[in-house]
Amino acid sequence: MKVKNRLSLQFTFMFAILLLVVLTGIYVFVEHNRVKSFITKLDERAVIVAQFYLAEDNLSKDTFRKVSQKFPQSLSSESIRIYDDKFQPKFIPEGSVGWKRSFLSQVVKRKILHARQGEMQITGIYYPDNSGNFIIVVSAIDERGLQDMEQLRLIISVFFITSLFITFFIGRVFANISIFPIVKITDNLKRIRASSLHHRLPINISKTDEIDNLSSTINQLLEHLEQSFENQKSFVANASHELRTPITSILGEAEITLVKERSPAEYKHTLEEIVSSVERLNYIIDSLMELMQTNLDNKDFQLIRVDELIWEIVDELAFRTHVENIKVAYDFTIEQSRITLLGNRQLLFIAISNILKNAVKFSEDKEVYCTVSNNNSHVIITIKDSGIGIAESDLNKIFQPFYRSSNAMGFPGYGIGLSLTNNVVRLHNGSINIKSELGQGTVFQLYLPLS
Ligand code: ADP
Repeated sequence: MKVKNRLSLQFTFMFAILLLVVLTGIYVFVEHNRVKSFITKLDERAVIVAQFYLAEDNLSKDTFRKVSQKFPQSLSSESIRIYDDKFQPKFIPEGSVGWKRSFLSQVVKRKILHARQGEMQITGIYYPDNSGNFIIVVSAIDERGLQDMEQLRLIISVFFITSLFITFFIGRVFANISIFPIVKITDNLKRIRASSLHHRLPINISKTDEIDNLSSTINQLLEHLEQSFENQKSFVANASHELRTPITSILGEAEITLVKERSPAEYKHTLEEIVSSVERLNYIIDSLMELMQTNLDNKDFQLIRVDELIWEIVDELAFRTHVENIKVAYDFTIEQSRITLLGNRQLLFIAISNILKNAVKFSEDKEVYCTVSNNNSHVIITIKDSGIGIAESDLNKIFQPFYRSSNAMGFPGYGIGLSLTNNVVRLHNGSINIKSELGQGTVFQLYLPLS
């Protein structure tokens, strides 16, 4: 069922319940008043009979009839009966209407009694008089009132059904109006394809209702999708370019060498060139594998003391690359628990050593400072160099795979390290902050949440 139909049905259903309660209330109130005023009428007639007839002490039947006819109007199917305290009919024969002893004794007991027999309303009163005690029973049908009630029922039913139809159609109009923005969003979204991810949904800036919130959330999603599509595209283009370069050089070297007979020294030289290209290829493939590993949600986490990890990385760098210019500053007063985090040791090792290696590489043997500190929630690793710096326009691009700034082209590298570091930091719910000035140096700050 369409939402607009469902909404209008729900709206109609709720209105129907409300209307039913109100109309039933009105009906019950009117019916109660009708019965009450009719009973009052019967009571009055019974008292009048008592006063006109019995108070005058033993009028004859003819006089009674005359008195009865003086009543303002007679009621439908009206009957008036008078009994003495031995339950014997007086003055008027019972005829077709007679009252049982049990009923009359109840009247005596209660002094006044109201009862109902089908549509007939009955009033019995006990009237003590100096000429004896009497019971007067008056009964009649409130034909006029019943007809009025029947008419009221008809009017209420017609009104109820018509109101429901009107409510359903009004509900549909309102549902259409409320759903219209969603229909518009759907139409706009239908037009967006992988090739047109730059399209955005229109947003009314002056309004900030739920629909505008939905549109801006979808726009943010589109933004992310577009970004990751772009990244994916440039990643594939860059990766194939980087892989093709060493392969082309291997092929070129081999083909040129094979053109004619060469001396052993030339063959040796060619093989050395090929080995260096294969090493380059190997390095790129290893880096890509590592990058892939960080993209898989690797949750092999353990408790790691960051100061120990940093020393390990610095030792390893010194051993492998004979780098001696990294100065580690560490505040020994920090409690161990304040620099212990939950993470994947191997991945964090790669991430931090990438930044340290870059700092050393791009500062051409000037000193590099590494500091470990903390705030309430994070361990902060700061790596500061006095190297070539990064242009402001490059700051948000250097995390893309294979991206290298123009001033970094004279340095070895493939542009994979930082994207790997970024993935690892994101995996640990951390963040990276960079401050840099061209020609002055760069400060990288890694914020990693405490365990
Ligand atoms: P690579 O170092 O192999 O080029 P990275 O992914 O590690 O690749 O770095 C990407 C780019 O970020 C580098 O090419 C360089 O332009 C810039 N960069 C990273 N670290 C620094 C730094 N400490 N100083 C200056 N530029 C840097």
